[in-house]
Amino acid sequence: MRLSSIFNTAGPVLSFEVYPPRTEAGYQSMYASVDRLMAFRPGFFSCTYGAGGSTQGPTLDICTEIMRRHQVPVMAHLTCVGSTVAELEAWLDQARSRGVPNIMALRGDPPQGQEQFSKVEGGLGYANELVELIRSRYSNFGIGVGGYPEVHQEAPSPEADLANLKRKVDAGADAIVTQLFYENGDFFRFRDQCHRAGINVPIVPGLLPIVNFPQVRRITSLCKARIPAELHAQLEASKENPEAAATIGVEHAARQVEGLLAAGVPGIHFYVLNQSEATRQVLSSLGMDKTA
Ligand SMILES: Cc1cc2nc3c(=O)[nH]c(=O)nc-3n(C[C@H](O)[C@H](O)[C@H](O)COP(=O)(O)OP(=O)(O)OC[C@H]3O[C@@H](n4cnc5c(N)ncnc54)[C@H](O)[C@@H]3O)c2cc1C
Repeated sequence: MRLSSIFNTAGPVLSFEVYPPRTEAGYQSMYASVDRLMAFRPGFFSCTYGAGGSTQGPTLDICTEIMRRHQVPVMAHLTCVGSTVAELEAWLDQARSRGVPNIMALRGDPPQGQEQFSKVEGGLGYANELVELIRSRYSNFGIGVGGYPEVHQEAPSPEADLANLKRKVDAGADAIVTQLFYENGDFFRFRDQCHRAGINVPIVPGLLPIVNFPQVRRITSLCKARIPAELHAQLEASKENPEAAATIGVEHAARQVEGLLAAGVPGIHFYVLNQSEATRQVLSSLGMDKTA
């Protein structure tokens, strides 16, 4: 099912993002998490592509396996990093022949050791070009794109970032999934700005419940997401007690979900980092376990 149909169904759509593990044990744990998250009747799963220096290769295999196991829609991420247009097309051909219905079209971050993103010869420089490529030659895919409530770290201004986001939507994106954030106000401001700019596709907030503070601190410093001072202080105070810190993180995420749903978001996208437990706790605490 394509994103446009998924977001046309009643009720908020839950989606869960996994990444390609590096070990066999990692695969087992990731698929076990996927199995458990099915209890929440997700609208789709997504799998990253080369994020944070991870491998690019298995994304389609993982998407195919999730579809085979659960007959649930998937979205395969794809970035412009290191690929020519011909290579991107070969990958998209494969995605099509495997029946993957949706692509998350991204530029990607500069490879490790490089300060700035630079496109390869014969490649693409921005995500809107990838959206254009997909729309023009693979019209059947649903297309997701990334949005940044706290502004993308390379953008010269919020206005320029918004104009670039609009370019991706005008090129044919069906939905925006946001970078993680911990302050709902940042998302609401971003959503209002999008609406004022004439962006009318679903804007789906992306959440990463904090269970491992050092890990999340690393991620947030990479993507320049802000951890609110009060939450930061609570987590700092619990740093000798990881269980207490995880409880704080889960409760914060649950309050975020409550606030976002009350404000009518079309769905919530969880960065589950291949572990289901924190997301399960967040959703179960809100009575969102659909098998219960
Ligand atoms: C939901 C989500 C999932 C992600 N999944 C992955 C993943 O699987 N793998 C991975 O490697 N990374 C992933 N990322 C991270 C993403 O690749 C980085 O944030 C990257 O730095 C920007 O990607 P983008 O697609 O948003 O780029 P773009 O939309 O191309 O934007 C990049 C920068 O260029 C500017 N810009 C955009 N278009 C133009 C233009 N035409 N002219 C001038 N400036 C422009 C933007 O304002 C922005 O500052 C994900 C991000 C999100 C939000």
